[in-house]
Amino acid sequence: MEIIDNLYLVPGVVANTYVLVDEDGLTLIDAGLPGSQKKILAYLASLGKTEKDVKRIVLTHSDLDHVGGLAPLAAATGARTYASQIEADAIAAGKASREANPPGFSLRRMLFILLAPFFKAKPFQVDEILAEGQTLPALGGLRVVETPGHTPGHISLFAPAGGVLFCGDSMVANENGLRSSRPGVTWDKAQAGESVRKQADLGARIVCSGHGPVVVDAAGKFPL
Ligand SMILES: [Zn+2]
Repeated sequence: MEIIDNLYLVPGVVANTYVLVDEDGLTLIDAGLPGSQKKILAYLASLGKTEKDVKRIVLTHSDLDHVGGLAPLAAATGARTYASQIEADAIAAGKASREANPPGFSLRRMLFILLAPFFKAKPFQVDEILAEGQTLPALGGLRVVETPGHTPGHISLFAPAGGVLFCGDSMVANENGLRSSRPGVTWDKAQAGESVRKQADLGARIVCSGHGPVVVDAAGKFPL
């Protein structure tokens, strides 16, 4: 699905995987649940691209639904891979960077506890560590914004030229706008709130979250 020129959302992948098109090749933001590589590569083919066109894969954080397809995608594409130090360490260990703990006694919580051991990402060593203020050569300059809270080393990416913010799971989108990271999967609520304020100040017009629809005319839709 085309969002704006040179920016696409891969349909049918959880969590949202975005494709950025530049002259030197493609950048992927996040890599979906394990097995998502098939859908992602098929979608690239539908855009007339090949796996070798993928130059960069950027991970917002180490949760399984964002890094599940990473190892096979990196192997298929030969792309360079990027994450923050904290999340890279977790990805290398094949686990998330914090304990997720959905609140309350519910079917969802029971399933979560029972199924957790069966859903693990393959340990993977990313190539490059990203930190606040670094800029990647995608969408006219893609700036790293550290947004801890959902996880300790969560990063967002901001492209000032198009006013596009990729916020990972620091905020979740729905039809009405953006919501905060959900309590049961939030490492630090206070830091998560700070990260929302920091992102609201960027002046993004379009927000691409890890979950839910793309949010346009984003000003005023931040969960402040
Ligand atoms: Zn997450």
